[in-house]
Amino acid sequence: MKLKDKIALVTAGASGMGRAAAETFAAQGAHVIVVDVDEEAAGAVVDGIAASGGSATAAVVDVRDLEALKKLADDVTAEHGKLDILYNNVGIPGAAGLDMTPEEWDTGLEINGRASFFLSGYLTDALKASGNASVIFTSSTSGLIGSPFSPLYSFTKGGVIALVRSMALAMAGDGIRVNAIAPGSVETPGLPAFFRASPEETEKRKAAFFAQIPLGRAAQPEEIAQVALFLASDMSSFVTGVTIPVDGGLTAK
Ligand code: NAD
Repeated sequence: MKLKDKIALVTAGASGMGRAAAETFAAQGAHVIVVDVDEEAAGAVVDGIAASGGSATAAVVDVRDLEALKKLADDVTAEHGKLDILYNNVGIPGAAGLDMTPEEWDTGLEINGRASFFLSGYLTDALKASGNASVIFTSSTSGLIGSPFSPLYSFTKGGVIALVRSMALAMAGDGIRVNAIAPGSVETPGLPAFFRASPEETEKRKAAFFAQIPLGRAAQPEEIAQVALFLASDMSSFVTGVTIPVDGGLTAK
């Protein structure tokens, strides 16, 4: 029980890596707030955690809505008085290429950058109240090396890496650690959208992309959740301001 009595909030917690982290955190004793726009899927994650003997609640929020994020932060603070783990995991592939509308650009930034930035701000007092909080962001290998699929995605995920360094410095005095995980390809429901092709062509592109990964495969969401658990827990008590690639060796090349 590495997270006994901890309160954790996971954005995009209803699917993929967020779901795996929510389940892992709950299995380690945390109460998990599963934040997602998909009410049914968030409810299913919460039910699954409860059925396994864990503790979780769902918060249905579209992270583009800053007022809703503020209310979420206020509700968490009122109910729990503190937040120990904030996993800013939400993100979308966004528009591809350079030919996009300003609205598409804004949506990419709103979901991949703005939401996590403001939610972290709204929750700062609750994180301070923990006395030993961990903030985790989901970046991407596309923030470390160029994404062949989307410059916008690389821009937002690279921005997360810079943000994490800066936030780690700004929050260190309050006992808050801030780090990021940079996953490579992970077999989640969201993965096919990165390839932006028909189902048949997606399978071809996936196979070609996976062949470039030194370990020869994509990750499972649970393999990312183990690194999130490390960052969330006291196992990483002296780790702050870093981005950990979890990519099967992709960026080691
Ligand atoms: P996923 O696609 O499986 O799930 C995404 C979840 O986000 C869904 O439950 C969806 O309802 C929710 N969501 C989307 N827009 C939302 C909004 N506006 N408000 C609230 N919730 C919203 O996700 P995943 O593939 O596990 O990706 C999670 C994170 O990892 C993202 O930041 C993604 O960019 C990043 N990432 C993914 C991969 C990959 O290979 N899958 C690789 C590197 C980084």
